[in-house]
Amino acid sequence: MSKLFAAALMIVLVLGGAGSAENLEADVVIVGGGGAGLVAAIEAAVHGANVILIEKLSFLGGETLISGGGLQAAGSSVQEAKGIEDSADALYKYWMEKGLYRINADKASLIANESAAHIEWLQEQGVEMTPETLSPGSWSPAEPQRFHRAVGGGAGLIQPLIKSAESLGVQFYTDTEGTELIMENGRVVGVKTEGSVSEVRANAVIITTGGFGANKDLLAQYAPDYVDVVGVTTPGNMGGGLLMAEAVGAKISGLHGAIGWFSTPVGLSPTIYVNMQGERFMDETIFYALKAEALIQQGGMAYDVFDQTFVDGLAENTQNNISGAVDDGRIIQADSLTALAEALGVPADALTATVDTFNKSAEAGKDLAYHRNPASLRTVAAGPFYAMPVYLSHLGSIGGVVTNLEAQVINDKDQVIPGLYAAGSVTGGFLGDVYPGSGTAIAQLVVMGRIAGANAADE
Ligand SMILES: Cc1cc2nc3c(=O)[nH]c(=O)nc-3n(C[C@H](O)[C@H](O)[C@H](O)COP(=O)(O)OP(=O)(O)OC[C@H]3O[C@@H](n4cnc5c(N)ncnc54)[C@H](O)[C@@H]3O)c2cc1C
Repeated sequence: MSKLFAAALMIVLVLGGAGSAENLEADVVIVGGGGAGLVAAIEAAVHGANVILIEKLSFLGGETLISGGGLQAAGSSVQEAKGIEDSADALYKYWMEKGLYRINADKASLIANESAAHIEWLQEQGVEMTPETLSPGSWSPAEPQRFHRAVGGGAGLIQPLIKSAESLGVQFYTDTEGTELIMENGRVVGVKTEGSVSEVRANAVIITTGGFGANKDLLAQYAPDYVDVVGVTTPGNMGGGLLMAEAVGAKISGLHGAIGWFSTPVGLSPTIYVNMQGERFMDETIFYALKAEALIQQGGMAYDVFDQTFVDGLAENTQNNISGAVDDGRIIQADSLTALAEALGVPADALTATVDTFNKSAEAGKDLAYHRNPASLRTVAAGPFYAMPVYLSHLGSIGGVVTNLEAQVINDKDQVIPGLYAAGSVTGGFLGDVYPGSGTAIAQLVVMGRIAGANAADE
């Protein structure tokens, strides 16, 4: 490239950047366009505010878009229609007990009390919730059916929220990243940005940037068990909001780890998990966040061992997925357990003994080792045998900035930071050490997102 051409290109780039950047003003600016951001935007607009929402990626929805789209709620009309008896009392106790009382009790109470009303609110926004998509809590099938899944999952939740926000006049700026909060006289008055806009000034800022599940450095600092695993999240979730809020003195809490998850090459109901010693170590059917805890104890992986009889009973497309995974080495297949053990590098005598004991449990209908539900037991007897890796994973981080019940961000002296609100997975302190159940994160973001939107609009 000639020097002249390079200089001309530089001028075009500089002018292009300067020309495209704008300074904007609004009543409320929302940083992060996932579930919490959209909910807050709708509520702020309903309360009469002029709302700008900035999103660093080129699309809205965040991790909420790829989620199951379900939330826990108790006493809803959807439950009533199915004859399910449930109450805010029961949901509150559930969260407190699963969180070992190491969670914010006032927030748990607020979210439990408000949960049913928020199902109605989501329905008013066009989110479809039906009795057919209700399912029990995560720890036991005996729990009340209170996981309310939007028809269409995460997209079924996000798409109507985008439409609702648009119809209320919320202005969206995608490809626009919030980089720094603007403080004047001890008050947050806007956010500096990168992208098509250079800053947005507002009476109030709501941070809804989600967690930090895509940021290896923050995972190393706050959730070291999950650094070397492949997490399921969206690339925008780099903890930007957490860092911005921290820089203006926000208190941080609840950084215990991540929403534990596990991943496998093919989705199957588990047969028998063995560790690298060829030994079983858990009830393989437990709630996924607990399974993740057990996998951490085994160095982050195990093998699900099953036999040909199990494969023969699967749907044809699942069988095809298994043979594809065998062909490309993601699942190991061998004619005997001894050969399988050799291929995995685990002691053959240990694996054979483990399978033998498990088969006796399955035949007796009683798992003496780990008390697994007898109905889920099946023998591993007819070769060829298979070993499918089960890897530790996560569905986003846990913990972040502290907010009060009005969704205002709190500083280290437990004072409100004027003009600053937050909601969703950027906040911390509601969840305990272990994720308490599917639907908890979205229950939190809907209730606290609405409160943040309403209060920010009232500023
Ligand atoms: C596969 C999967 C399934 C799940 N299923 C469920 C479920 O069924 N129920 C449940 O309760 N939970 C579920 N979860 C967890 C739940 O989805 C998340 O905790 C929740 O959606 C987070 O919502 P949020 O609005 O706080 O963040 P997000 O929805 O992630 O939105 C944050 C947005 O902010 C943007 N952003 C980040 N930084 C900036 C910045 N500096 N400037 C501008 N924008 C920024 C991001 O790009 C993103 O779009 C699931 C998670 C996964 C991964």
